[in-house]
Amino acid sequence: MALKFYNTLTREKEDFSPIDPKEVRMYTCGPTVYNYPHIGNYRAYIFADTAKRVLLYEGYEVKHIMNLTDVDDKTIRDSQKEGKSLKEFTEFYTEEFFKDIKSLNILTPTKFTKATDYIDEMVNIIKKLLEKGLAYKSEDGSIYFDIGKDKEYGKLVRLEKKITVTSECALENPEKRFGRIKSDEYEKDNIQDFALWKAWDENDGDVFWETELGKGRPGWHIECSAMSMSNLGESLDIHTGGIDNMFPHHENEIAQSEGATGKQFVKYWMHNEWVLVDQKKMSKSAKNFYTLRDLTDKNINPIAYRFWLLMANYRTRVNFVWDALEGAEVALKRLFRLYKDLGNDIGTVNVKYQQKFKEYLEDDLDTPRALTILWDVFKDENMSNADKKATVLDLDKVLGLGFENIKEEETPEKVLKLVKEREDARINKDFKKSDELRDKIKSLGYEVKDSSDGYKIEKI
Ligand code: AMP
Ligand code: ZN
Repeated sequence: MALKFYNTLTREKEDFSPIDPKEVRMYTCGPTVYNYPHIGNYRAYIFADTAKRVLLYEGYEVKHIMNLTDVDDKTIRDSQKEGKSLKEFTEFYTEEFFKDIKSLNILTPTKFTKATDYIDEMVNIIKKLLEKGLAYKSEDGSIYFDIGKDKEYGKLVRLEKKITVTSECALENPEKRFGRIKSDEYEKDNIQDFALWKAWDENDGDVFWETELGKGRPGWHIECSAMSMSNLGESLDIHTGGIDNMFPHHENEIAQSEGATGKQFVKYWMHNEWVLVDQKKMSKSAKNFYTLRDLTDKNINPIAYRFWLLMANYRTRVNFVWDALEGAEVALKRLFRLYKDLGNDIGTVNVKYQQKFKEYLEDDLDTPRALTILWDVFKDENMSNADKKATVLDLDKVLGLGFENIKEEETPEKVLKLVKEREDARINKDFKKSDELRDKIKSLGYEVKDSSDGYKIEKI
């Protein structure tokens, strides 16, 4: 079976075929570093990581760029509130983000790009759009994208009809434009010309750049066009993000990028669905969110969250409840225990299971079915422990649950000493003493199991 991804642009599952067969070029909209991301946000990064791991598993090289939005309305607003420079403020949350993705076992992208390092590239795209008449300067010096001039505007979220009607008006009368919106975030029923460059005003304080476009700062959408195209070329294979990024962010990215280059910007758009709480989207603004710190405060391993998400397809909504997460952690601990019991030898990967696993994932990342293979391997009575171990490690290249970090725990010296004493008592047929020692060992959390070829120490 060929690898298939659901492409939001075409609303179809399509065979995956990269533009350059040697290397897949992938871009993920990263966090706005103004706060701790909530666990809903992490679904977007775990999903992108899974897609990337599947590509690597299929043998592709992957160049993966993830941006860090370190200048926008929110970062400016909140850095001012805390009386910190934009840099100091965003660097703090960037470091916290790095720690979080490590704890979720998310592979480090080929490169993280900070928006503030790409101002020149943004200016260049905006200049091209001005030259082509696709953008204009407003009275205050801000620059807007003229969506009335873009016949394809709305193709990602399917707004064709509305735009065609209005753009005809705009063509008849070039001065008749859509309204303008300076804010980065707005709803679909509020389609307007959006800001590429925001002229400085006093709310921006000391956050501005003096450029050929004037004194100001970029809009949020242009940041991603500049960072993706500078690193991955004018046409990329995969662009990921949460479904709420489709509009206006990704629609605007397409408009700007394709407007500037005349080429298709992204071949496969992939979006994850929401994490809900009480059936409502988890979000900062609704104040119904949890962070990874809430998990660790309850002694829940962040990997249990990853595991829980893998139990659902990335395109289905999932409702977060603590019970479900705790259940996932119990199951995960059981898997880790089973893995520990496999011993130290690593044998050969079972190709039959590997094939089935791959087949499920090739169907638009069907992780729930892929997970069943993991359980099947542990349950298989005809496989050696060593081969099971090799197969689990192989599957984990995609699942990212971190089996390779699980080491056989060392039995404490104290317990070993008691076990030795018990062994001596048994040899001397002092069964009373040997039973007493067994109880003592048990009170320390260990059990000695006798067998025909000696004994085994197990943690209870
Ligand atoms: P933001 O920092 O707001 O741009 O969000 C970062 C990523 O998280 C984006 O890809 C969003 O689409 C995604 N996202 C935000 N809220 C949720 C949610 N409740 N469930 C899943 N993904 C989300
Ligand atoms: Zn983006």
